Amino acid sequence: MTSPWLEIDLDKIEHNANLLIERLTCCGISVTGVTKVTLGFPEIAAALLRAGVCGLGDSRIENIEAMRRAKIGAPISLIRSPQLSQVERVVRSADLSFNTELEVIRRLSSAATSAGRTHGIVLMVELGDLREGLMPADLEDMVREVLRLPNLAFRGIGTNLACRSGIAPDASNMAELSVLVESIEETFGLTVEIISGGNSASLQWALGGAVTGRVNNLRLGEAIFLGCEPLHRQPLAGLFTDAIMLVAEVIESKIKPSRPWGTIAQTAFGEIHTAIDQGNIPQAILAIGRQDTDPDGLTPPAGIDILGASSDHLIVKSDAAVGSEIAFQPNYSALLRAMTSPFVSRVLKTSGASNLKSA
Ligand SMILES: *Cc1c(COP(=O)(O)O)cnc(C)c1O
Repeated sequence: MTSPWLEIDLDKIEHNANLLIERLTCCGISVTGVTKVTLGFPEIAAALLRAGVCGLGDSRIENIEAMRRAKIGAPISLIRSPQLSQVERVVRSADLSFNTELEVIRRLSSAATSAGRTHGIVLMVELGDLREGLMPADLEDMVREVLRLPNLAFRGIGTNLACRSGIAPDASNMAELSVLVESIEETFGLTVEIISGGNSASLQWALGGAVTGRVNNLRLGEAIFLGCEPLHRQPLAGLFTDAIMLVAEVIESKIKPSRPWGTIAQTAFGEIHTAIDQGNIPQAILAIGRQDTDPDGLTPPAGIDILGASSDHLIVKSDAAVGSEIAFQPNYSALLRAMTSPFVSRVLKTSGASNLKSA
């Protein structure tokens, strides 16, 4: 095994997903398991499916193709607007895609027709976060086009909040989604099947006793993998926050002054080093750096402080010996980068199936 590595507890992931699914079932909301932070890792996708997600979602066609190659047959949504240059791959591997552009939807229709398949369309609506989405006033015209085009199935509407501007899902923007559904149903005489009310940031709204209206689906990644909600990054009751840990190895361990000496200029990453003088301290270096993860997104174990990081080094206040290993809790940013680094390996474990109790 190469080091550093991500230690991935499939049972804890399954437990987290299952608990969220149970809680959301009570308000009539299904869960799409979002695999993008894991790059569509098939064993993790399988754990989500065991937990009872209604389908999988990923923002990248490469990840969806990897899951299909691993013989995952569950419904998979492409949750980022398809690239025009990839429509053939999208209709081949994804059951449905999230869309906002007529040109893309037309090309999906042609590609689906050539492939002899029907491709599902969910239209994304802009509700204030200013990432993807049609302006609400343009939704009805787009539904009309989707219904007209061959080999497409209009499956529903959705929205995405919080990711770009930090706009919180609340009673008002979520109610707007329900109003749009009702108006589409009235205009076109159909029943909208999927009303996808956002990502992990929508959990507080959904589980906070709100009127969930017509929203019947959430797309969850972070809450399942990290056990916390992304608006205030608070742990969710009953969920494991340590389902995925990032482990690195100590390559230097010395007593050093806490203050650098010499003329202070910029660091490798353009920062100015500031350190409080604590006298001599135990300093350890781990073989992991900015190329492998986001050091600002790592939580060290109690008693260890992160002092700094460069491309390949993470410096901590610790007397850990050379060769010893330290496990950090990654946040979303740190996890995303670690999963994507070719230098970080993955170790799957199962901590003991069904009777898991979270700390
Ligand atoms: C990433 C993403 C999600 C999942 O977000 P989490 O915060 O990980 O739950 C859901 N929907 C869309 C469109 C996304 O891009």
